Amino acid sequence: KMEVMADDCDTRDILRPLVFRLHENVPAIVREVLLERGWTEFDKKEQDEADWNLYWRNSPFRMTDHHSIKPWQRLNHYPDAVRITRKDYLARHLKRMKGSYGSALYEFSPVAFIMPNDYAKFIAEYSKERQLVGRRPSYWICKPVDLSRGRGILIFQDIKDLVYDCTVIVQKYISNPLLISGYKLDLRLYVCVASFCPLTIYTYEEGLVRFATEKFDLSSLDNICAHLTNTSINKCGASYKKYKEGIGCGCKWTFSKFRSYLRIFGADDVLLWQKINNIVILTLLAVTPLPVASNCFELFGFDILIDDKFKPWLLEVNCNPALCLDCSIDDTVKRKLLHDIVELMNYKQIDTFRRNEVVGTKAGRRQVPWGTAGESTAGEAPGLLTCRKVAKCTSASSAQPDLQAAKGSIPHPRETLTSQLRERMNMAKTPSQAKPEAKNKQLPGAGHSPHKPAQLSHWLPTPDFCNYTLTTRPYFLSDKDQRPIPRVGDFVLIFPFNEAALQASRDGTDVKSIIKEIKKLVSKQ
Ligand code: ADP
Repeated sequence: KMEVMADDCDTRDILRPLVFRLHENVPAIVREVLLERGWTEFDKKEQDEADWNLYWRNSPFRMTDHHSIKPWQRLNHYPDAVRITRKDYLARHLKRMKGSYGSALYEFSPVAFIMPNDYAKFIAEYSKERQLVGRRPSYWICKPVDLSRGRGILIFQDIKDLVYDCTVIVQKYISNPLLISGYKLDLRLYVCVASFCPLTIYTYEEGLVRFATEKFDLSSLDNICAHLTNTSINKCGASYKKYKEGIGCGCKWTFSKFRSYLRIFGADDVLLWQKINNIVILTLLAVTPLPVASNCFELFGFDILIDDKFKPWLLEVNCNPALCLDCSIDDTVKRKLLHDIVELMNYKQIDTFRRNEVVGTKAGRRQVPWGTAGESTAGEAPGLLTCRKVAKCTSASSAQPDLQAAKGSIPHPRETLTSQLRERMNMAKTPSQAKPEAKNKQLPGAGHSPHKPAQLSHWLPTPDFCNYTLTTRPYFLSDKDQRPIPRVGDFVLIFPFNEAALQASRDGTDVKSIIKEIKKLVSKQ
């Protein structure tokens, strides 16, 4: 069989690995995961400038990077995503949305004042509260707008304790958080926006619960290990390594463990998850429209605090959520998260464009290093043969049976060559990936509806990209029906969530109509 293939085609084409580019300071796990998948690292000296598939960096890209993007490439940032990741910008956007669409929908973020600009407004609110007889005055938290990891944070009740020397937000402190065994916690939820235009949002079902490592106590506001749940703060605390009753050592749980915990206590974790998804959608709607850009995505870390009435609150949104590995739970969650992101990138036949366009690299074409692939080559051969067949097909779906047979015994996620082939062929990896998501609202009939004519002009904004309209489409659309893929690994599509939301996000984002749909959803929850 291999001989047939060698005669039949240029095997070097098939074996060319996908290529990643990393900017400085990208966490080591990103490189590790991509190497595990059989990718190779971009080499400026050896390769053509456009000969890469994924460029990952911790800071924004230049607009020229966005404008010169090729169909086979992806960037890990969307232009202007900072609109929600700076605390003051987020507060301003949410306040505006509250004004336009009502506080009932937008009351998931604690009241905030941007200092020094809002000083007078804050004093008015503070004084009003103090004059109310019989009501205990609120607690407040003061946070520098562009710092992270709990740096520079202060909690206070009396205004005489408020000091700041830079722009800060002063936010109502949620003083009744849900506690587990007396410890405060919050959720680090991973959200991948595959596109802002059309808005396409996935939330990750697994995630991190982050605990404070000292028991919650409102009489000691300056004990940061009792009030802040940042790992960077708590891992330096005396109790981090100690066994804490009900929590264990360290300061993290997975969402899975948290869900089991909630179920044991009869709490409705599905409803909580729906409410959190609503927060994510409403928050992202607040920053639309963003500049149109294709082939880029944004991985956000949403920080969600749950109070003792089981209401989720949005604390902040992070770009470049921490991908460092402080403990084994980090490794489990973040490694799989990165694998699933690459799956979501849906590298498939599109990469044949790279092979055709980047004719000959500076040092000639490179091959997958068979010896370093880490798996028996014999086991891969059927996959390669199938790949060759599929690469010639115009429709990936016609190739599914062959591919299914080929993937059979391949383990996940430590795959190399096979993963690459799958990435190029856009095939499901595990049975769970293909199964419909029961808990979350989906596009009715996603994956089942009759084929709709392609409306590529709506989805392909840059002129460069439009050169490839014949066979390419945005990576998050399924081959079958041009709709966003409902589930990829643990990523679940939460927007668009129905046909009306899909239509309202096709030509620009019709926020008003989308909000109307969300209101209907909320009223049923
Ligand atoms: P940073 O970017 O520095 O991490 P955050 O806004 O995420 O800033 O706040 C850090 C931590 O402080 C949160 O993880 C949470 O534990 C706590 N916190 C922040 N804001 C509030 C709030 N309004 N109410 C209660 N706790 C809060």
